Amino acid sequence: VQAAFRNNLSYLLELIGSGKESLIFMKKRVRHLASQWLLATRSLAQKLKGRRRDQKQILIHIGFLTEESGDVFSPRVLKGGPLGEMVQWADILAALFLLGHSLKVTVSLKELQSNLGVPPGRGNCPLTVPLPFDLIYTDYHGLQQMKQHMGLSFKKYRCRVRVIDTFGTEPAYNLEEYATLHGYRTNWGYWNLNPKQFMTMFPHTPDNSFMGFVSEELNETERQFIKSNKASNMAVVYGKEASIWKLIFFAFLPQGKEKFLAILNKYMEIHGTVYYETQRPPEVPAFVKNHGLLPQHEFQQLLRKAKLFIGFGFPYEGPAPLEAIANGCVFLQSRFNPPHSSLNHEFFRGKPTSREVSSQHPYVEDFIGKPHVWTVDYNNSEEFEAAIKTIIRTKVDPYVPYEYTCEGMLERIHAYIQHQDFCAGASPPLPAKPNGHAMPSSPNPFTLSPNATHLVWSYNGSSAPHVWPPMSSMQVWVSEAGRACTETCQEHGLVCEPTFFEFLNKKDVFLQLRIACDTTESEMNHLYPALAENVPECYLQKEPLLYSCAGYSTKYRRLCPCRDYRKGQVALCRDCL
Ligand code: UDP
Repeated sequence: VQAAFRNNLSYLLELIGSGKESLIFMKKRVRHLASQWLLATRSLAQKLKGRRRDQKQILIHIGFLTEESGDVFSPRVLKGGPLGEMVQWADILAALFLLGHSLKVTVSLKELQSNLGVPPGRGNCPLTVPLPFDLIYTDYHGLQQMKQHMGLSFKKYRCRVRVIDTFGTEPAYNLEEYATLHGYRTNWGYWNLNPKQFMTMFPHTPDNSFMGFVSEELNETERQFIKSNKASNMAVVYGKEASIWKLIFFAFLPQGKEKFLAILNKYMEIHGTVYYETQRPPEVPAFVKNHGLLPQHEFQQLLRKAKLFIGFGFPYEGPAPLEAIANGCVFLQSRFNPPHSSLNHEFFRGKPTSREVSSQHPYVEDFIGKPHVWTVDYNNSEEFEAAIKTIIRTKVDPYVPYEYTCEGMLERIHAYIQHQDFCAGASPPLPAKPNGHAMPSSPNPFTLSPNATHLVWSYNGSSAPHVWPPMSSMQVWVSEAGRACTETCQEHGLVCEPTFFEFLNKKDVFLQLRIACDTTESEMNHLYPALAENVPECYLQKEPLLYSCAGYSTKYRRLCPCRDYRKGQVALCRDCL
């Protein structure tokens, strides 16, 4: 069946159901963004005109909202608890629905079981029941529940699962045997999935797929209105929970809290949206004008007036800074030096990633930057003060990166649904193979670039392997010792694409790069394929699930599969649609 774009969201609102604050929040968001979603859908439909799109049967099981996983979120929706996940789920639902797929939404174990076709009371059903869904979007909690209640079907069907995973899961943490042996401990389990099945909130981990969410876009009238109504001395502080004000002072700015706030207060009127019950939260200083937690729409109205949105170091990587920038604010945040990671910060401890977070919001730092985003050292009060003075004087237009617009998100999810297939061929778990899978061996598909720095794909015979992203977007670069492929590709204006690892995990490729290998061993190591820094030894990857863009060691120079990307849509290569 072909999928038909939808032009109305009311049936989705019914599907979402009700009864929980979290669901009410999500419905409000869908309703509020409805006209933008519908415009974007029409525009994408134009762009994809005549393209065949299969309609998928999709189950969306939001595990963290089930009573069985404790549902700690719903009761905190109105109390300043995290909302980022709900923002993202609301947008995923809207996008899947508008793309024309057939959806079931579950937020309890009972509904999950009945949708999976597991007979009641047969929790550990040993039989494999046919799965009535092509795709299941869930989270780590939901994954656990599915494993418990699907019996053998889980193994068979896990290639159809997509895991919404804010901060990302690196390959070294995903494979149980390897993680256990090498100390990649996590609180989230080991699922042996294809790492691309994990979908993140920001495109920070190319080993995973970037799912994202949307940020409101302004029309011309709204832009004009903002221009004439900005209060150039108004700052809003990022953070809804009073506890972050404590954090600011004790964890991030051990010395000089008075100095830092006094500086800001010298130039600007400081506003907050910190949740409180009856009294003003004692953590928030008296000169801060606190509005209390606002409904999302009113929060955005506040941002429209404000000139500056200021982060104190927590929460990490949420939607709010993008919304602030979309509403014409400058976002000022602290640089983390040394960067925060699972090794040195409680928040990331036990999370399945070694990512080093260089500021409160690395996406806006790296992908947006000045004049919208200022990342400064808060311990240096001169740098801080100079930034504020400049920001007050600078005119900044509202800005939304294309990948965070409704159309950008629809386009990306459309591409994933039509092209990503983790069930075909090399779907995990397969026994480790030394050489990835079949690939025309002659003629060899690469040529060395004219300056001999990297390999480009040059084979265009009819038996070119059918992969997505297409091989034509690929370049192979060798990293410096101590550098990850993520950074190596970035340095060349490209992005690491783990799908391509299998094509460069070959002796031939070393040869073509004119790398001398006295020995070539095939082992399990998330840094392979690689060559030793000082001796002519080469290494191939033995376990396809360990192909990893992340990871570095001063002992190795890594072979890195990079690809091009569309400006404003890093998830897609130029020929990817
Ligand atoms: N938000 C809100 N009311 C407020 C402040 C924020 O509804 O008073 C919303 C905001 O629009 C954003 C969401 O809360 O979409 C999540 O924001 P944040 O970046 O703080 O991420 P979190 O830590 O909640 O995941």
